[in-house]
Amino acid sequence: MMEPLFGKTLEELKKIASGLGLPAFTGQQLSEWLYHKEVAGFDSMTNLSKQARLLLGSKYELGYLEPVDVQESVDGTKKYLFPAMAGKFIETAWIPDRERVTLCVSSQVGCKMGCLFCMTGKQGFQGNLTAGEILNQYRSLPEWRKITNLVYMGMGEPLDNLGEVLKSLEILTAPWGFALSPRRITVSTIGITPAMLEFLNRSQAHLAVSMHSPFDEERRKLMPVQQVYPLEEVLREIRSWDFGRQRRVSFEYILFRNFNDTPTHVRELSRILSGIRCRINLIRFHPIPGTPLESPGKEQILDFRDKLVAKGITTTIRASRGQDIWAACGLLSTKKLMNTD
Ligand code: SF4
Repeated sequence: MMEPLFGKTLEELKKIASGLGLPAFTGQQLSEWLYHKEVAGFDSMTNLSKQARLLLGSKYELGYLEPVDVQESVDGTKKYLFPAMAGKFIETAWIPDRERVTLCVSSQVGCKMGCLFCMTGKQGFQGNLTAGEILNQYRSLPEWRKITNLVYMGMGEPLDNLGEVLKSLEILTAPWGFALSPRRITVSTIGITPAMLEFLNRSQAHLAVSMHSPFDEERRKLMPVQQVYPLEEVLREIRSWDFGRQRRVSFEYILFRNFNDTPTHVRELSRILSGIRCRINLIRFHPIPGTPLESPGKEQILDFRDKLVAKGITTTIRASRGQDIWAACGLLSTKKLMNTD
C-alpha cells in the first residue's frame, strides 16, 4: 500500500516534495489541493508539472477513504462507518441542528479506558487513528463543507492519541489547512492530566472534561481513570490555566438515576467548580447491555439542571440525538465488525 498524503502537515509535504527533487513550493501546492480544493487524483493537480504528478503518483496516494455505510435517524442524525487500519472500522456522527452541523469524530478504534457506561469501552482497544484517518471522517463526507463544528467525542479517548490528535487539529486550523476557527472545535477527555496540559498548550480548541460524578469513590466506579488521574488534580490544573475570554471549558455529566443525581451532588459540584468559568452539559444516560446503571426521567433531568443553575452554574441539557441508530453518546461501537472469531 502506498503512503497517503492526506493528513500530512505543510512541513511534511515540503519535505516529501524536496525528497522527490521537486521545488519546495510544490509542498504548498499540495496542501492547497488536499485541504482547499476538490481533487480526484494527482492527474487533476493542474498546476503541477506532468513529471511531478507522475513522480508523486508512483510513490504516494491521496489517501481519501469513502464511508462504507451510513444510517440515518428519524431526527436527521447520521452515523457513518469508515474503514480504518487493517480491516477495522470507526463510526462518525453527523448531527444537524438548524444552522449548525456538528460532526462527532473518532480518534481511536475502540478504547482502553473501560468506562462502565460506554459501548466503545466494552469493545476494548484496537488501535490509534492517524491524523489522516481522523480528518478523513470530515473531508470524505459528501456534504463536508456544511459542517460548522467538530467535536472529538466519538470512539476513543483523544488525549490517549495526543500526537495524531494535535496534528489533526493543526491541519484543521492552519491557514494552509482547512482554516477552521479553533472556536468551532471541542476536544473531549476523561482527564489525563499531563496530556491535557500539553493539549491546552499546543492547541486553542475548546476543552470538555467528562466528569460524571464529583465524588472520588463514585467516579472510580464509573471511570477507572480516576485511580490514576483524580478529578481533584484535573480541576486544580484547569483552575490555574488561563483560558482567556474566548476559549471554553465544559464538563460533561451523564445522569444516572439514583446514582449521581441527588442534591448532595449539586452541592458538591458547586463546591468543586467554584472559581472556574465553565459550563456543565447534562447528558441523559443511554442504557447499554450489561450495566446496572439506569436512565433518569425527563423531570429529574430538568430538576437537576434547575438546581445547578440556582447555584450559579451555567448548565445545559444535551439533546439526545440518533439513539435509534446507536449514534448517541456512549453508544458507538464497531465490535460486531471485528474479525475476532
Ligand atoms: S467514555 Fe470515552 S474514554 Fe470512556 S470508554 Fe468510552 S470512549 Fe473510552
